[in-house]
Amino acid sequence: MTARGDFSRQSFLGEDAEQVLAETRVAIVGLGGGGSHIAQQLAHVGVGHFRLIDPQDIEDSNLNRLVGATQDDVINGTPKVEIAKRVIRSVRPWADVEVSKTEWQAAADLLKDAHVVFGCVDGYRQRMHLETAARRFCLPYIDVGMDVTRLADRHYAVAGQMISTRPGGPCMRCLGFLTQQRLDREENDYADAGINPQVVWTNGTLASLAVGAFMRLLTPWFDSSTEFEWLELDGNNQLVSRSRQPDYSIKGPCRHFTSNDLGDPFLDLSLRRAPKDSS
Ligand SMILES: [Zn+2]
Repeated sequence: MTARGDFSRQSFLGEDAEQVLAETRVAIVGLGGGGSHIAQQLAHVGVGHFRLIDPQDIEDSNLNRLVGATQDDVINGTPKVEIAKRVIRSVRPWADVEVSKTEWQAAADLLKDAHVVFGCVDGYRQRMHLETAARRFCLPYIDVGMDVTRLADRHYAVAGQMISTRPGGPCMRCLGFLTQQRLDREENDYADAGINPQVVWTNGTLASLAVGAFMRLLTPWFDSSTEFEWLELDGNNQLVSRSRQPDYSIKGPCRHFTSNDLGDPFLDLSLRRAPKDSS
Protein backbone atom coordinates (compact mmCIF):
# COMPACT_ATOMS: atom_id res chain seq x y z
CA MET A 1 0.00 0.00 0.00
CA THR A 2 1.22 3.46 -0.88
CA ALA A 3 0.10 6.87 0.34
CA ARG A 4 -2.31 6.85 -2.57
CA GLY A 5 -3.96 3.59 -1.52
CA ASP A 6 -3.74 -0.14 -2.09
CA PHE A 7 -3.59 -1.00 -5.77
CA SER A 8 -2.45 -4.60 -5.26
CA ARG A 9 -5.49 -6.03 -7.06
CA GLN A 10 -4.38 -4.33 -10.26
CA SER A 11 -0.63 -4.83 -9.85
CA PHE A 12 -0.66 -7.05 -12.97
CA LEU A 13 -0.94 -3.82 -14.97
CA GLY A 14 2.82 -3.40 -14.62
CA GLU A 15 5.44 -2.45 -12.10
CA ASP A 16 5.19 1.27 -12.79
CA ALA A 17 1.50 1.35 -13.63
CA GLU A 18 0.42 2.92 -10.35
CA GLN A 19 2.97 5.71 -10.70
CA VAL A 20 2.19 6.26 -14.38
CA LEU A 21 -1.55 6.50 -13.70
CA ALA A 22 -1.02 8.84 -10.74
CA GLU A 23 1.03 11.16 -12.95
CA THR A 24 -1.34 11.03 -15.92
CA ARG A 25 -3.50 14.03 -16.77
CA VAL A 26 -6.78 13.28 -18.51
CA ALA A 27 -9.23 15.74 -20.01
CA ILE A 28 -12.87 14.64 -20.12
CA VAL A 29 -15.09 16.72 -22.37
CA GLY A 30 -18.75 16.16 -21.51
CA LEU A 31 -19.65 14.92 -18.02
CA GLY A 32 -23.04 13.41 -18.82
CA GLY A 33 -23.90 9.73 -19.12
CA GLY A 34 -20.60 8.70 -20.73
CA GLY A 35 -18.19 11.17 -19.13
CA SER A 36 -19.45 10.74 -15.56
CA HIS A 37 -18.92 6.98 -15.86
CA ILE A 38 -15.42 7.45 -17.30
CA ALA A 39 -14.48 9.90 -14.52
CA GLN A 40 -15.62 7.46 -11.86
CA GLN A 41 -13.67 4.54 -13.33
CA LEU A 42 -10.51 6.60 -13.84
CA ALA A 43 -10.66 7.64 -10.18
CA HIS A 44 -10.86 3.99 -9.14
CA VAL A 45 -7.89 2.92 -11.30
CA GLY A 46 -5.85 5.73 -9.75
CA VAL A 47 -5.51 8.48 -12.35
CA GLY A 48 -4.06 11.49 -10.54
CA HIS A 49 -5.01 14.52 -12.60
CA PHE A 50 -8.36 15.40 -14.10
CA ARG A 51 -9.42 18.27 -16.36
CA LEU A 52 -13.21 18.26 -16.54
CA ILE A 53 -15.07 20.38 -19.06
CA ASP A 54 -18.85 20.75 -19.43
CA PRO A 55 -20.97 23.91 -19.51
CA GLN A 56 -24.17 22.37 -18.16
CA ASP A 57 -25.88 22.09 -14.79
CA ILE A 58 -27.64 18.82 -14.03
CA GLU A 59 -31.34 18.56 -14.90
CA ASP A 60 -33.96 16.08 -13.75
CA SER A 61 -33.77 14.21 -17.07
CA ASN A 62 -30.04 13.51 -16.49
CA LEU A 63 -30.69 11.50 -13.34
CA ASN A 64 -31.42 8.34 -15.36
CA ARG A 65 -27.73 7.99 -16.18
CA LEU A 66 -25.43 10.53 -14.53
CA VAL A 67 -23.15 8.57 -12.21
CA GLY A 68 -22.79 10.13 -8.77
CA ALA A 69 -25.68 12.58 -9.19
CA THR A 70 -28.37 12.91 -6.52
CA GLN A 71 -31.87 14.32 -6.28
CA ASP A 72 -30.40 17.20 -4.26
CA ASP A 73 -28.11 18.02 -7.17
CA VAL A 74 -31.15 18.37 -9.39
CA ILE A 75 -32.85 20.66 -6.85
CA ASN A 76 -29.68 22.74 -6.51
CA GLY A 77 -28.79 22.70 -10.20
CA THR A 78 -25.26 21.48 -9.49
CA PRO A 79 -22.84 21.79 -12.43
CA LYS A 80 -22.04 18.41 -14.00
CA VAL A 81 -18.31 19.08 -13.60
CA GLU A 82 -18.77 19.57 -9.86
CA ILE A 83 -20.65 16.27 -9.52
CA ALA A 84 -17.82 14.45 -11.31
CA LYS A 85 -15.25 16.24 -9.16
CA ARG A 86 -17.09 15.15 -6.02
CA VAL A 87 -17.17 11.52 -7.20
CA ILE A 88 -13.45 11.54 -8.03
CA ARG A 89 -12.41 13.21 -4.79
CA SER A 90 -14.59 10.91 -2.70
CA VAL A 91 -12.67 7.93 -4.12
CA ARG A 92 -9.24 9.60 -4.36
CA PRO A 93 -9.01 12.66 -2.09
CA TRP A 94 -5.46 13.25 -3.34
CA ALA A 95 -6.48 13.59 -6.99
CA ASP A 96 -5.89 16.94 -8.62
CA VAL A 97 -9.16 17.98 -10.30
CA GLU A 98 -9.57 21.15 -12.32
CA VAL A 99 -12.96 21.98 -13.76
CA SER A 100 -14.27 24.36 -16.36
CA LYS A 101 -17.99 25.00 -16.62
CA THR A 102 -17.68 26.20 -20.19
CA GLU A 103 -17.80 24.88 -23.71
CA TRP A 104 -14.57 23.01 -24.40
CA GLN A 105 -13.60 25.58 -27.02
CA ALA A 106 -13.16 28.03 -24.14
CA ALA A 107 -10.99 25.65 -22.12
CA ALA A 108 -7.96 25.29 -24.38
CA ASP A 109 -5.55 25.46 -21.45
CA LEU A 110 -7.15 22.44 -19.78
CA LEU A 111 -7.16 20.42 -23.00
CA LYS A 112 -3.59 21.33 -23.87
CA ASP A 113 -2.44 20.34 -20.41
CA ALA A 114 -3.74 16.74 -20.73
CA HIS A 115 -2.03 13.55 -21.88
CA VAL A 116 -5.24 11.98 -23.19
CA VAL A 117 -8.56 13.52 -24.23
CA PHE A 118 -11.89 11.74 -23.74
CA GLY A 119 -14.69 13.04 -25.94
CA CYS A 120 -18.24 12.44 -24.68
CA VAL A 121 -20.01 14.99 -26.83
CA ASP A 122 -23.10 15.00 -29.01
CA GLY A 123 -22.92 15.08 -32.76
CA TYR A 124 -20.45 14.32 -35.51
CA ARG A 125 -19.31 17.89 -36.02
CA GLN A 126 -18.45 18.35 -32.35
CA ARG A 127 -16.45 15.12 -32.48
CA MET A 128 -14.60 16.24 -35.56
CA HIS A 129 -13.62 19.55 -33.99
CA LEU A 130 -12.61 17.93 -30.72
CA GLU A 131 -10.45 15.33 -32.44
CA THR A 132 -8.89 18.16 -34.45
CA ALA A 133 -8.04 19.99 -31.23
CA ALA A 134 -6.56 16.82 -29.70
CA ARG A 135 -4.45 16.23 -32.82
CA ARG A 136 -3.11 19.73 -32.82
CA PHE A 137 -1.98 19.27 -29.24
CA CYS A 138 -0.55 15.86 -30.30
CA LEU A 139 -2.83 13.98 -27.90
CA PRO A 140 -4.55 10.60 -28.18
CA TYR A 141 -8.32 10.94 -28.45
CA ILE A 142 -10.91 8.48 -27.11
CA ASP A 143 -14.50 8.99 -28.20
CA VAL A 144 -17.78 7.41 -27.05
CA GLY A 145 -21.30 7.87 -28.33
CA MET A 146 -24.62 6.09 -28.46
CA ASP A 147 -27.73 6.31 -30.61
CA VAL A 148 -31.24 4.96 -30.47
CA THR A 149 -32.91 4.58 -33.84
CA ARG A 150 -36.59 3.96 -34.27
CA LEU A 151 -37.36 0.96 -36.43
CA ALA A 152 -40.70 -0.28 -37.70
CA ASP A 153 -43.39 -1.55 -35.33
CA ARG A 154 -42.29 0.61 -32.42
CA HIS A 155 -39.03 -1.26 -32.03
CA TYR A 156 -35.80 0.54 -31.35
CA ALA A 157 -32.19 -0.19 -32.21
CA VAL A 158 -29.71 0.77 -29.50
CA ALA A 159 -26.16 1.16 -30.77
CA GLY A 160 -22.94 2.87 -29.86
CA GLN A 161 -19.26 3.04 -30.53
CA MET A 162 -15.93 3.62 -28.83
CA ILE A 163 -13.20 4.97 -31.06
CA SER A 164 -9.64 5.65 -29.99
CA THR A 165 -7.22 7.46 -32.32
CA ARG A 166 -3.76 8.82 -31.82
CA PRO A 167 -1.48 11.32 -33.52
CA GLY A 168 0.33 9.83 -36.49
CA GLY A 169 -2.36 7.18 -37.04
CA PRO A 170 -5.65 7.21 -38.92
CA CYS A 171 -8.18 9.76 -37.70
CA MET A 172 -11.95 9.34 -37.44
CA ARG A 173 -12.29 10.57 -41.02
CA CYS A 174 -9.69 8.06 -42.29
CA LEU A 175 -11.56 5.30 -40.44
CA GLY A 176 -14.80 6.11 -42.24
CA PHE A 177 -16.65 7.14 -39.09
CA LEU A 178 -16.80 10.87 -39.78
CA THR A 179 -18.08 11.13 -43.33
CA GLN A 180 -19.25 14.20 -45.21
CA GLN A 181 -22.61 12.50 -45.63
CA ARG A 182 -23.07 12.15 -41.88
CA LEU A 183 -21.92 15.71 -41.25
CA ASP A 184 -24.32 17.06 -43.90
CA ARG A 185 -27.23 14.98 -42.61
CA GLU A 186 -26.61 16.19 -39.08
CA GLU A 187 -26.61 19.78 -40.24
CA ASN A 188 -29.85 19.31 -42.21
CA ASP A 189 -31.60 17.48 -39.37
CA TYR A 190 -30.45 19.86 -36.69
CA ALA A 191 -33.73 21.79 -36.41
CA ASP A 192 -35.82 18.70 -35.72
CA ALA A 193 -33.26 16.63 -33.86
CA GLY A 194 -35.65 16.16 -30.90
CA ILE A 195 -34.69 14.27 -27.76
CA ASN A 196 -31.44 12.31 -27.85
CA PRO A 197 -32.20 9.04 -26.00
CA GLN A 198 -29.53 7.90 -23.53
CA VAL A 199 -29.50 5.02 -21.04
CA VAL A 200 -27.13 4.26 -18.20
CA TRP A 201 -26.19 0.67 -19.05
CA THR A 202 -25.21 1.46 -22.62
CA ASN A 203 -23.34 4.57 -21.47
CA GLY A 204 -21.59 2.36 -18.90
CA THR A 205 -20.59 -0.29 -21.43
CA LEU A 206 -19.13 2.31 -23.78
CA ALA A 207 -17.39 4.11 -20.90
CA SER A 208 -15.81 0.81 -19.84
CA LEU A 209 -14.56 0.21 -23.38
CA ALA A 210 -13.07 3.72 -23.36
CA VAL A 211 -11.31 3.15 -20.04
CA GLY A 212 -10.05 -0.19 -21.39
CA ALA A 213 -8.59 1.57 -24.43
CA PHE A 214 -6.97 4.12 -22.10
CA MET A 215 -5.44 1.39 -19.91
CA ARG A 216 -4.07 -0.40 -22.98
CA LEU A 217 -2.52 2.87 -24.07
CA LEU A 218 -0.99 3.79 -20.71
CA THR A 219 0.03 0.58 -18.99
CA PRO A 220 2.11 -2.36 -20.23
CA TRP A 221 -0.30 -5.16 -19.26
CA PHE A 222 -1.42 -5.61 -22.83
CA ASP A 223 0.96 -5.21 -25.74
CA SER A 224 -1.24 -3.10 -27.96
CA SER A 225 0.55 -1.56 -30.89
CA THR A 226 -2.59 -0.70 -32.85
CA GLU A 227 -2.87 2.87 -34.02
CA PHE A 228 -6.60 2.96 -33.43
CA GLU A 229 -9.55 1.05 -32.00
CA TRP A 230 -13.13 1.16 -33.19
CA LEU A 231 -15.48 -1.03 -31.24
CA GLU A 232 -19.15 -1.17 -32.12
CA LEU A 233 -21.84 -1.97 -29.59
CA ASP A 234 -25.04 -3.64 -30.73
CA GLY A 235 -27.10 -2.72 -27.71
CA ASN A 236 -30.11 -4.85 -28.65
CA ASN A 237 -28.08 -8.06 -28.73
CA GLN A 238 -25.50 -6.88 -26.18
CA LEU A 239 -22.62 -7.57 -28.56
CA VAL A 240 -19.36 -5.70 -28.91
CA SER A 241 -17.37 -6.20 -32.09
CA ARG A 242 -14.51 -4.62 -33.96
CA SER A 243 -15.77 -2.40 -36.77
CA ARG A 244 -14.95 -3.61 -40.28
CA GLN A 245 -15.38 -0.15 -41.73
CA PRO A 246 -11.67 0.83 -41.42
CA ASP A 247 -10.78 -2.17 -43.65
CA TYR A 248 -12.64 -0.44 -46.47
CA SER A 249 -12.00 3.19 -45.61
CA ILE A 250 -8.31 3.55 -44.75
CA LYS A 251 -6.39 4.46 -47.88
CA GLY A 252 -2.83 5.03 -46.71
CA PRO A 253 -1.50 7.54 -44.15
CA CYS A 254 -3.80 10.17 -42.68
CA ARG A 255 -4.09 13.11 -45.04
CA HIS A 256 -6.26 15.15 -42.68
CA PHE A 257 -3.53 15.92 -40.15
CA THR A 258 0.20 16.18 -40.52
CA SER A 259 2.91 16.34 -37.89
CA ASN A 260 3.22 20.05 -38.72
CA ASP A 261 -0.46 20.58 -38.08
CA LEU A 262 0.03 22.36 -34.81
CA GLY A 263 -1.28 25.71 -33.79
CA ASP A 264 -4.45 27.25 -32.49
CA PRO A 265 -6.99 24.44 -32.73
CA PHE A 266 -9.91 26.81 -32.31
CA LEU A 267 -9.08 28.94 -35.27
CA ASP A 268 -11.16 26.97 -37.74
CA LEU A 269 -14.26 26.42 -35.66
CA SER A 270 -16.26 29.24 -37.18
CA LEU A 271 -16.01 27.63 -40.62
CA ARG A 272 -18.90 25.53 -41.79
CA ARG A 273 -16.65 22.87 -43.27
CA ALA A 274 -13.43 21.54 -41.81
CA PRO A 275 -10.74 23.22 -43.91
CA LYS A 276 -8.90 20.00 -44.71
CA ASP A 277 -11.95 17.83 -45.17
CA SER A 278 -12.11 16.69 -48.74
CA SER A 279 -13.68 13.30 -48.07
ZN1 LIG B 1 -7.26 11.21 -41.31
